[in-house]
Amino acid sequence: MSAVGGLARVLLLSAFGGVLSALAASLFVILGARARRALIPPLVAFATGALLAAACLGLLPEAFAAGGPAHTRAVGLAAVFGLLAFFAIEKILRARRDDAKSVTAPLILLGDALHNFVDGAAIAGAYLTAPGLAIATAIAVFAHELPREIGDLAVLLDAGLGRGRALVLNLLASLAAVAGALIAYHALAAAQGLLPYALALAAGTLLYVALASLVPALHERRGLRSALGQLASAAAGVLAIWLTEGVA
Ligand SMILES: [Zn+2]
Repeated sequence: MSAVGGLARVLLLSAFGGVLSALAASLFVILGARARRALIPPLVAFATGALLAAACLGLLPEAFAAGGPAHTRAVGLAAVFGLLAFFAIEKILRARRDDAKSVTAPLILLGDALHNFVDGAAIAGAYLTAPGLAIATAIAVFAHELPREIGDLAVLLDAGLGRGRALVLNLLASLAAVAGALIAYHALAAAQGLLPYALALAAGTLLYVALASLVPALHERRGLRSALGQLASAAAGVLAIWLTEGVA
């Protein structure tokens, strides 16, 4: 496959995960609270399963295999770094968010762009390892970005931004996914030795999003019925990644 063909696919997958999810989120905001209430809870559980599977079945095994037996600890450390980096970013965003409403919107957009950049880079790193892994990662990105972008839009509107302005700015921030994919694709193609660490780092960020961002939201719903529903949706997310990663 030509390098241009590969890059085009990476950009398409990152646009699917990062930009299309933001577009779909805009639609949800326009549709209103009822559509959100019906579709978001199962989607969050599905995304949790998809993220855990993309990290544990796809990115981490590939990272350790690519790094080889001599570098297992260093690759593992990259995963820990990814987890802690996202923890630090969220810490900063939360601390500043409480300061004043005037800084909320720029910080949300900046944090969103940074997060999307890493998502795009993860897709590019996955693609350079195996196309199937990139498709699985893009699905996991899309599934968690949809509820996350809806949440971001809600905060932007709450901070006083007009609806049109919030949608456009949020969409612009989502383009960072494509930029991240473009930059990571070239950087990792030039420095293949970094690929195992980039994959492990990306796995760490996906694990953080699943366990620290999505799981707390799942716990807000009580009762056996909702627990079973969440487990079933999460299992469907795992299955979706298992199948896409295995087939392509
Ligand atoms: Zn994301």
